[in-house]
Amino acid sequence: MTTFQEKPSANRTYRGRFAPSPTGLLHEGSLLTAVASYLEARTRGGQWLVRMEDLDPPREMPGAADNILRTLASFGFEWDGPILYQSKRLDVYREMLNDLIAGNVAYPCGCTRKEIADSSLRGIDGPIYPGTCRNGLPAGRQTRAWRLRLEETALMEFNDVIQGTQQQNLIDQVGDFVLLRADGYFAYQLAVVVDDAEQGITDIVRGADLLDSTPRQLYLQKLLHISRPNYAHLPILVNAAGEKLSKQTRAVALEISRATVLLWKALERLGQRPDPALKTASLDEIWTWSCSNWQLELVPQAKFLHDYA
Ligand code: GLU
Repeated sequence: MTTFQEKPSANRTYRGRFAPSPTGLLHEGSLLTAVASYLEARTRGGQWLVRMEDLDPPREMPGAADNILRTLASFGFEWDGPILYQSKRLDVYREMLNDLIAGNVAYPCGCTRKEIADSSLRGIDGPIYPGTCRNGLPAGRQTRAWRLRLEETALMEFNDVIQGTQQQNLIDQVGDFVLLRADGYFAYQLAVVVDDAEQGITDIVRGADLLDSTPRQLYLQKLLHISRPNYAHLPILVNAAGEKLSKQTRAVALEISRATVLLWKALERLGQRPDPALKTASLDEIWTWSCSNWQLELVPQAKFLHDYA
């Protein structure tokens, strides 16, 4: 089976990343993740990489990937190295999946979405797969998706830098999860683990909407002998209806002409205490202040932040 070289975790140079999905334009919620991951990397003397998670074409918005990169650059973010596009890495994910199939760790599943919904308990992220195809496809069934066969000891624990100790039993709360979806696209869980390893990411700062996905990623890391990065899950910005800001909830795209004030607002939401005078300062001044004053410890230990402003 393809495995990654285990790197010693001590003395690893900090490498963070920002991994937007081009399903829409950047908004004030995504800005929180960009700002926090960037400042944490910079103040730790590390690198900050950008990865375009363009893995799900039906959900993507034409032009969004380029727009995201232009917006980041206009806000003054500077990334290290080339951008990694997930759409160019399908062969790598395929190879990883083939190895898991060869090791009998991934298996074909012929169940429809409706069958799973009808015969399953609800878990942390939708129905818990009842294991129908675990011991072979039932007669007359075609492969639709490929799933990971969980071992009995799928209790995952980690200490999130912001949210504290987390624990999830994948068997009780998720079930054998999908690696290759019925529509032929690779699952985020597989791609993110393979790519964080490929890019040598040591520290992941991202939204708390992904907190429940992390145990699946830890499980895959263990299976593939990938060293575990540190995780910090930021509170996510929600609107008055309690919904995450996104294209679906009509989040307003970031306006470049308001970059300084939007950065100021992001810093304040992240618990930093930017001087009000910085609202009318230049981009350079706000970044200079941020790079000398950023403290991850000040980020609120919450899963949600309300967008009252
Ligand atoms: N692409 C994901 C998103 O835009 C983020 C994935 C991650 O940070 O692991 O929500």
